[in-house]
Amino acid sequence: MNKMPEIFGSMVFNESVMQARLPKDVYKAWKKTMTQNIPLQLDAANVIANAMKDWAVEKGATHFTHWFQPMTGITAEKHDSFIVPTGDGRALMEFSGAALVHGEPDASSFPSGGLRATFEARGYTVWDVTSYAFIKDGNLFIPTAFCSYSGEALDKKTPLLKSMQAINIQALRILRLFGNTGANAVLPMVGPEQEYFLVDKKMCAKRPDLVYSGRTLFGARPPKGQEMDDHYYGSIKPRVAAYMEELEEELWKLGIFAKTKHNEAAPAQHELAPIFCKANIATDHNQLTMDMMKNVADRHGLVCLLHEKPFAGVNGSGKHNNWSLATDTGANLLEPGETPHENAQFLLFLMAVVKAVDEYQDLLRVTCASAGNDHRLGANEAPPAIMSVFLGDELAEILEAIESKEQYENKEHHELETGVTVLPHFLKDTTDRNRTSPLAFTGNKFEFRMLGSASSIAGPNIVINTIVAEALRQFADELEPFAAISDADFTARLWKLIRRVLREHKRIIFNGDNYSDDWVAEAARRGLSNIPDSTGSFGALISEKSIELFARHNVLRESELHSRCDIHLENFCKAINVEAYTMVEMLKGLIIPAVLEYQQTLITLLNAKKGEFDTSLETHLLENISRLSAELLTALTAFDEILIGKNGHPNPGEYYSGKIIPAMQTLREITDKLETLTAKKYWPLPTYGELLHSVV
Ligand code: ADP
Ligand code: MG
Repeated sequence: MNKMPEIFGSMVFNESVMQARLPKDVYKAWKKTMTQNIPLQLDAANVIANAMKDWAVEKGATHFTHWFQPMTGITAEKHDSFIVPTGDGRALMEFSGAALVHGEPDASSFPSGGLRATFEARGYTVWDVTSYAFIKDGNLFIPTAFCSYSGEALDKKTPLLKSMQAINIQALRILRLFGNTGANAVLPMVGPEQEYFLVDKKMCAKRPDLVYSGRTLFGARPPKGQEMDDHYYGSIKPRVAAYMEELEEELWKLGIFAKTKHNEAAPAQHELAPIFCKANIATDHNQLTMDMMKNVADRHGLVCLLHEKPFAGVNGSGKHNNWSLATDTGANLLEPGETPHENAQFLLFLMAVVKAVDEYQDLLRVTCASAGNDHRLGANEAPPAIMSVFLGDELAEILEAIESKEQYENKEHHELETGVTVLPHFLKDTTDRNRTSPLAFTGNKFEFRMLGSASSIAGPNIVINTIVAEALRQFADELEPFAAISDADFTARLWKLIRRVLREHKRIIFNGDNYSDDWVAEAARRGLSNIPDSTGSFGALISEKSIELFARHNVLRESELHSRCDIHLENFCKAINVEAYTMVEMLKGLIIPAVLEYQQTLITLLNAKKGEFDTSLETHLLENISRLSAELLTALTAFDEILIGKNGHPNPGEYYSGKIIPAMQTLREITDKLETLTAKKYWPLPTYGELLHSVV
């Protein structure tokens, strides 16, 4: 596509635009903020705001919005026009530094988990200078953090930025130990692969379940699902190709490096992956990508479903969060090195991840907990709810060799190193592709595969950054005193540490099939945690260990963790609630009337034929439909009772998981059987077959 170079980033107030449009000193001040976290002064902000406004107006924008990421998991925006009255009946387009840096949206309706007193309706938005402003739909969007009057984070961006600072501090300590004085910063880099479904808009409109909850709550299996494996990487159909092309262009305009696109395993399922970038920008970009996926779909008469499980019986959608650590000088710290020295550093960072994941399995589990993702984890299409790390056979063998050197601990240092001098640089190409691991080392990055497609990637990255920062902190604390003595002491201690960490945490390393039942049993033997229901996982956020961890690294305060725990549970219950009431509405308003109508037709026919023709088919159908109808009535009556029972229940999580969800399953099973018995022209909903195979 030769348009790409021209349109790429054309709607972004990025570094090159700033360099061209800002006075030198202001540009330099901005750059310092960007690279060294030095706060920007208001006079510089004023100049930037004005330049930003001029640029935006030239591009046709009339409004600006502070764009933020509240705890709903999606983004929020409040639009203001640039217009300022001049006092003599005329108006000017103006945008001040103060308005750029700081906003006060009325935020009383965003989830705060009790953080913001109801009388304090204001939230504050603060410009994230490190993420570029951009224009979308005629609006200048300014990425911002969102907090309460007392400074508590009400969003996902603030703790993400703080977690990036935390890992920067600790990773630099490690680099200095290895004599690296050139790097000034270490940044987590993230590339999220996003899966999604496309369905026809007109069909979707006929399904209240898709409209309200983003997934089908009923639907008998189609004659053809994904069993032929003919969709995965199959040729892209024209209507989908046109959609993908426009989506890519729109993303390029916003400076998003959309790179690969392909069909996924399920029919109507697709994937888009960008080129990786800094974690906070990747998070902004992923939110924008999800938004844009929906908007562009609408223009093509399609609906983009980001739900984790839109269709039972075919694969759902996930989001693979690829994560690595890079220095500002361009080195990837998870890249095996060329020399023993570099290899040792690589192994230390690798061990930091292994230790972090083992020690904080429960926190990682929370980051992928949601009502939607419960359908995927452990269902043989995504990893189970058991955390483990895949390193590949080659790396595992190297680690074993290192570990078994233990008896030589007192020998010469160079002997200790021999196990790793052979660390091959071509690991990247030889690591086999274990698709079942929740966290796979894939040559020079870790791929976290448990996340659901609809989630923000902020959560997992906040946790990964913070837990790895903590492991690195402990390593640095242990190694610094030895480095102060001599290189040899440092090296000896380093290998000792690596071997110890390996011994203590190797239970988390698993290179086999994570989907197998054997692994569930084996993981239990290893003492790994396995929390199948999301509702059982949220509490990990407020354990003493987590509170201490997040406080130590200044990422989240105790009150913020409590609020997040509450919000997670609230979001879970709300999602199920919507589904439950949608089911009831569909049954009473659409499905039961249709089933009755079909029975009426059968009865009329039966009566007309009686005594003259054979009526065994009509009778058989009527008998079966009547029996199922009675079952449905019983289940629905029980369900109404169950829904009443949730009010005021002391443990909503348990009630939703233990009572409401199983009752929904029962309703569905009966209804899906009824669907297979009811003539198609009476059935009020587009079928699975139609939804999954209609976009051509
Ligand atoms: P797959 O997992 O399907 O084989 P790729 O190897 O193409 O996919 O990479 C998937 C994602 O990983 C892409 O978004 C890519 O930009 C990202 N990625 C590649 N290298 C890194 C890295 N060093 N750090 C973070 N993300 C990375
Ligand atoms: Mg992948």
